[in-house]
Amino acid sequence: MYTSFKEHLTKELADIKEAGLYKNERIIVSPQGAEIKVNTGKEVLNFCANNYLGLSNNPQLIAAAKEALDTHGYGMSSVRFICGTSDLHKQLEAKIADFFGTEDTILYAACFDANGGVFEPLLNEQDAIISDSLNHASIIDGVRLCKAVRYRYSNADMTDLEKQLKLAQAQRYRLIVTDGVFSMDGNVPPLDKIIELATKYDAMVMVDESHSAGVVGQTGRGVTELFNCKGQAEIITGTLGKAFGGAIGGFTTGKKEVIELLRQRSRPYLFSNSIPPLVAAAGIRMVDMMSETNELQDKLHANTKYFVSQMVEAGFDIKPTQSAICAVMLYDAKLSQEFATRLLEEGIYVTGFYYPVVPKGQARIRVQLSAAHEKIHLDRCIEAFTKVGRELGILKNNDSCGCNCNCGK
Ligand SMILES: *Cc1c(COP(=O)(O)O)cnc(C)c1O
Repeated sequence: MYTSFKEHLTKELADIKEAGLYKNERIIVSPQGAEIKVNTGKEVLNFCANNYLGLSNNPQLIAAAKEALDTHGYGMSSVRFICGTSDLHKQLEAKIADFFGTEDTILYAACFDANGGVFEPLLNEQDAIISDSLNHASIIDGVRLCKAVRYRYSNADMTDLEKQLKLAQAQRYRLIVTDGVFSMDGNVPPLDKIIELATKYDAMVMVDESHSAGVVGQTGRGVTELFNCKGQAEIITGTLGKAFGGAIGGFTTGKKEVIELLRQRSRPYLFSNSIPPLVAAAGIRMVDMMSETNELQDKLHANTKYFVSQMVEAGFDIKPTQSAICAVMLYDAKLSQEFATRLLEEGIYVTGFYYPVVPKGQARIRVQLSAAHEKIHLDRCIEAFTKVGRELGILKNNDSCGCNCNCGK
């Protein structure tokens, strides 16, 4: 059989390459950070990690993880309910609930699992899930595993959400689900309005704060902080793999009965290993750090503001952002790839996105800011963008002459 299956796979792979969608991995040989080294020996500035708070290589988290290795060993070799629950898991769950102002938390191996395991235990064919059209793949998959009736509304569109909520009155319970930050544009959903509509149409709200936790809101508590609705969403999911240290792990936090039932019925929790104690220990230190100081959030917000304003001034077309994601619009797919390649030659590592990851004709480069970036990193990035932008003739105040013209640059 494998002979014909191999031919089939070879053709699939060739099709992916043909469509220009083949993903090659770059190999990093240094810790994650603002400055990274790749296996060719080249050093580049990294503007495409989810390392929003620069914690991926934070000395305090490393020390906490090392200490836990000595006190708790390496792995648990068990799911949580058999013999895989350590005191560190329980402490981290309590800390996360405290951070978001929720009642209880359940940890997963990843947020992909948290989202995969949240709907099916809570809702059935009598119920409705009303989901934003740009929600993360893991939410889409989680919804697929659940028998609830599905409704979809256009991205952050409250008129459409209201329409779907009216239709969903036919069901018993209703759950509105949204990402906290949409990862391609960096926009956020109007959570205050969503909660208003949820109240009006008798629904519950779930927010996936994966890209917003640690980032959005003055103290990084996410979109519930940004819109002054802390504690009002019944369910929040999130990851330890982005701003929160960047290692591995996910969580669902919210109403205590919800979490209690998930511990009994959520399949990725019941049938998958618990996170290593060292990851839990570093997570505990991470939440403590964020309660001690707001330095990292302040720096990230300042960095984002500076970067966006300088890029707009340089003549780039930037999508309005309320997160640490900055979409530099180029519209043309080929141009986005050429631009990213040229930037890498200039020592700036960013990713170009085009259809089908973003809509047709909406190709862009996504820049992700971090508290790990110093002003010198930001300036080097802006300079490189401006240089390549001039070369490729895409700046609005199209100054392609190379600066011998008193243009002030
Ligand atoms: C990254 C992300 C996830 C997946 O998180 P992992 O912990 O890496 O599995 C889930 N939801 C959203 C919105 C994300 O951005």
